[in-house]
Amino acid sequence: MGVLGTLFLAGAINASSIEKVMSKEYDEDTNSISKVKNCPEPLKWSDEDVSVAWLGHAAFLINFYGTKILIDPALETRIGITPVGSYTIGPSRYVEPALTVNDLGSVDLVLLSHAHTDHFDMPTIKKVESNQTHIITAKNTSYLLEGMNFASVKELHWQESTGISGVTIKAIEGQHWGARLPWQKGMDANSLLISKNGVNIFFGADTGYTSKISEQLRDINVDLAIMGIAAYSPKSFEAKHATPEQAWQMSEEMNANWVVPMHWGTFKLSQEPMDEPIARFRSASEGQAEKVAIQEIGGTWVRPKS
Ligand SMILES: [Zn+2]
Ligand SMILES: [Zn+2]
Repeated sequence: MGVLGTLFLAGAINASSIEKVMSKEYDEDTNSISKVKNCPEPLKWSDEDVSVAWLGHAAFLINFYGTKILIDPALETRIGITPVGSYTIGPSRYVEPALTVNDLGSVDLVLLSHAHTDHFDMPTIKKVESNQTHIITAKNTSYLLEGMNFASVKELHWQESTGISGVTIKAIEGQHWGARLPWQKGMDANSLLISKNGVNIFFGADTGYTSKISEQLRDINVDLAIMGIAAYSPKSFEAKHATPEQAWQMSEEMNANWVVPMHWGTFKLSQEPMDEPIARFRSASEGQAEKVAIQEIGGTWVRPKS
């Protein structure tokens, strides 16, 4: 199990490997997709608050003082490549998405951190397509959205920022890479700083441990850091996907007030057991558990009014 995810992350895809593991993955997974216990209710969220819901893996829905933001949406049964229509070859989910596209309500802005298929899911993006919705994506990735009908599609590269729909988005350099498929060089990967009304949310996306992030956020009061904590095994993956301890350490280095661990428990992309990342993250954050804002898929955090 998880071989296919590993192949995707390692960039070692070839047709015969895919065929060999597809049927096994499919049989095991179709009967084992868990339900989400608590689903977010975005239509009840106040436009006077900051509300953040984890939809599974790296997908988040945020109401940022009235601006509706969807990040890295992958809300279908599978992630991977879509050679024909919406047929996807790739890992299947372990847990249902906390919301379907129909449940999202209107979305002002979609943020795509990078074009890896677990963050930039074409079938989901096609479903959210709207001429009322803006998209921000990473350097050299906007061509993937050509011909689609969005209000705007803008690429951001490290240190660049833009204001759209009342929020400011800044691209932050992490330690990752962006090629959707191994031969697609030149695509880049962003972490993101999302700001409005003096409140700052850092979305780590995928990154290995790097002190570069806290250096870039030196002058920023980070309210919430959303950090990936999985896909670190085998050891060679760790350079591009922080361990739970490293993710916690990065959130400490940026002095984040609250932290959300993500990118665990949804898709099998690597060799560590599915429940190991959160167990290790809880150990790493022991004594400061009150800073962990969302504990499970479907969880919603509303920023306490200060
Ligand atoms: Zn990635
Ligand atoms: Zn990822």
